[in-house]
Amino acid sequence: MYQCSGCDKCFASKGPFFKHRVGDHEVKEGPNRRRCMTTEETEASGKFQHAVVPTGKNAGKDLWRLAAPDHGRPENWTEDDEEEGDD
Ligand SMILES: [Zn+2]
Repeated sequence: MYQCSGCDKCFASKGPFFKHRVGDHEVKEGPNRRRCMTTEETEASGKFQHAVVPTGKNAGKDLWRLAAPDHGRPENWTEDDEEEGDD
């Protein structure tokens, strides 16, 4: 499982984790800043399925997985996104 260090959301895998990061790399301010989608945006995007973490220290928390199968890395993948959860 993946947990975002920025927003604490839990993800089933790297795919949905990458998808919830929006904006441009290395942009810290303004509308295009790199940030996490809000829960509302995550739900509204239609890209994610909402589930609940079944076991472990995050049991009962929201768990996000991709609504459709994801193959490969997103176009804007960079090393910068390779943030490990503490799992
Ligand atoms: Zn996040």
